[in-house]
Amino acid sequence: RAFNFNAGPAAIPLEVLQQAQEQFVDYHGAGMSIMEMSHRSALYEQVNNEAQSLLRELYGVPDNYRILFLQGGASTQFAMIPLNLVRPGRPGAYVKTGAWADKAIKEAKLVGETVIAASTESDKYMRMPTAEEIVIPDNAAYLHVTSNETIGGTQFFDFPQAGNVPLIADMSSDILSRPVDVSKFGLIYAGAQKNLGPSGVTVVIARDDLIAESPTTIPTMFRYSTHASNNSLYNTPPSFAVYMVSLVLNWIKGKGGIAQMDQFNRDKTKLIYDKIDQSSGFYIGCAQPQSRSLMNITFRIHSEELEKQFIKESEKEGFVGLKGHRDVGGLRASTYNAVPLESCQALAQFMADFQKRNG
Ligand code: PLP
Repeated sequence: RAFNFNAGPAAIPLEVLQQAQEQFVDYHGAGMSIMEMSHRSALYEQVNNEAQSLLRELYGVPDNYRILFLQGGASTQFAMIPLNLVRPGRPGAYVKTGAWADKAIKEAKLVGETVIAASTESDKYMRMPTAEEIVIPDNAAYLHVTSNETIGGTQFFDFPQAGNVPLIADMSSDILSRPVDVSKFGLIYAGAQKNLGPSGVTVVIARDDLIAESPTTIPTMFRYSTHASNNSLYNTPPSFAVYMVSLVLNWIKGKGGIAQMDQFNRDKTKLIYDKIDQSSGFYIGCAQPQSRSLMNITFRIHSEELEKQFIKESEKEGFVGLKGHRDVGGLRASTYNAVPLESCQALAQFMADFQKRNG
């Protein structure tokens, strides 16, 4: 298998792929694949419910929160959140921390009134703001943060205290990678394709009262209330993707849960950040140290020529996905839950060898 550092879709645990392969043609003796089965069947309902209950258990999701499996990716949530929650005189407040926060803001502006509660643009988005920098208007419908900026490689370690204003987090690139106190959030959402499974399903964890009454002026499929009142089975769900998510959740549980994942991710990223910090400036970390992501490590080499060579040579040695996002360039290693320690050890070794040859 390749050393897969793709940013998304990203690595899926090998054991999970093998388990899915075993049941691919004949799901537990049903005589058909899960993807051929009615989403109204008892077997699929079991998958849907199990994925929810595992997520609830692993993440400590309180009883007054609903777990939804939706489609359209996190990008659709950028619109659904303001469509459901912004009201006249109650704007959506946003913390602008990089490319993904910016996309969420642009989409919200199409829907209704939007306020910027803080921005780190003047620092080229290379850090997350401190709590003191975030100014939340009293009348805000919510405060939106991007928990981990996948492109810039920054991550929140202290989420803002939003008081009575519901805190909403885009956790697309760090959901289930570390413990979070779900009760501090009004709504959490994430496309599954980084830490949870394949693309095609988006997870929303939301407090009951926030999603109980969506405006009836918005299309039915865009209302949270539609999906909440139908157990995410209002229309045909992305059944195979939800099934894969349930396998990934079982895998996380088998590994000891979220606290274990957190430790595992810290161990993995330390190998690479240490190589950057000990390279006497050959490698340059992009994010400011206090905001360094445990999911996406962004770094540069002093010459673009060498960066190109790094990518070329790394590909020859079985590394995939180390090129930085096209908007920012440089190098990026995405080290989601499913990336094995051995891949990070191999990358750290490759970085040391590359520096020796070119430093
Ligand atoms: N938010 C973040 C932080 C992301 O990293 C991504 C995708 O990479 C998205 C949103 C968009 O997700 P999707 O492609 O599921 O719409």
